[in-house]
Amino acid sequence: MRIDLHTHSRASDGTDTPAELVRAAARAGLDVLAITDHDTADGWAEAAAAAEEVGITLVPGMEISTGHRGRSVHLLAYLPDPTSPPLAIELARVLSGRESRVPDMLARLRGLGIEIDADDVRAAAHGAAATGRPHVADALVTLGVVADRTEAFDRYLGAGRVAFVNRYAAPLEATIRAVTEAGGVSVIAHPWGRGGLGRPDEATLAHLHDIGLAGLEVDHQDHDAATRERLRAMAREIGRVATGSSDYHGTGKVDHDLGCNTTDPGEYERLMELAAESAARSARVTPLATYGRATGTA
Ligand code: AMP
Ligand code: FE
Ligand code: FE
Ligand code: ZN
Repeated sequence: MRIDLHTHSRASDGTDTPAELVRAAARAGLDVLAITDHDTADGWAEAAAAAEEVGITLVPGMEISTGHRGRSVHLLAYLPDPTSPPLAIELARVLSGRESRVPDMLARLRGLGIEIDADDVRAAAHGAAATGRPHVADALVTLGVVADRTEAFDRYLGAGRVAFVNRYAAPLEATIRAVTEAGGVSVIAHPWGRGGLGRPDEATLAHLHDIGLAGLEVDHQDHDAATRERLRAMAREIGRVATGSSDYHGTGKVDHDLGCNTTDPGEYERLMELAAESAARSARVTPLATYGRATGTA
């Protein structure tokens, strides 16, 4: 059983539509796929319909932009009810922060003599619920300013570059609690990579476990072999789940092909059990429960 628990569609900054993502996952030989767009559940319904067609299990999820001690932390949330008020309020704040920084980024680019406007970014975003720097990057590619997203980040959009503008991030601890309250489970994405926790010590992780963190994403392209072993040991010590995933973004991110990292079936089962416990406690129903909670299938 091949399981990939972290992928993006056009609902955020991936380049495949949710249905294309699911079909690509089936072609890549995956049995279980989580769709985890940044800060939105927008792709879930389309992905679920496609998953039923091609016969793979879809786990509805999202990657929430949080912050902790001044760092940006990406939090994967699986099977939360996105309409649960504490979660819905934070997601709305993050999405609005994503929108409101676009004009600032464009003004900075204009200062460099690069003329792109909000319509160019909107066109590049293809109706994404979560706009981001990758869409500004795509608009720069269309204009012929840069060759690809990587060059756009390296020259203009990456942290510390001229057109970098910060945005609102949800507080990590409150968001972990909000995900649990929404009947879901949380996993820290690429904890030692970009948008990770820095190099979290065991005390920090143990504390996050106490407030409800379910797991750590161990196998990710941002982590080298030594980091993976270290994180796997940490997850084991604090009794948390260790996942592995591609962080696929279609053609938007090189070296992140579907299934390039996968999650051990036993770890996946534990994650789904924790989600089921959380859902039972909260009495919240994930809109796509029939797809996402089909543990042990496929
Ligand atoms: P944002 O959430 O708008 O701040 O943009 C962050 C997103 O940009 C991340 O989720 C990555 O998918 C993407 N990203 C960051 N750095 C790069 C890069 N060097 N090349 C391509 N995509 C990147
Ligand atoms: Fe992304
Ligand atoms: Fe991430
Ligand atoms: Zn991601």
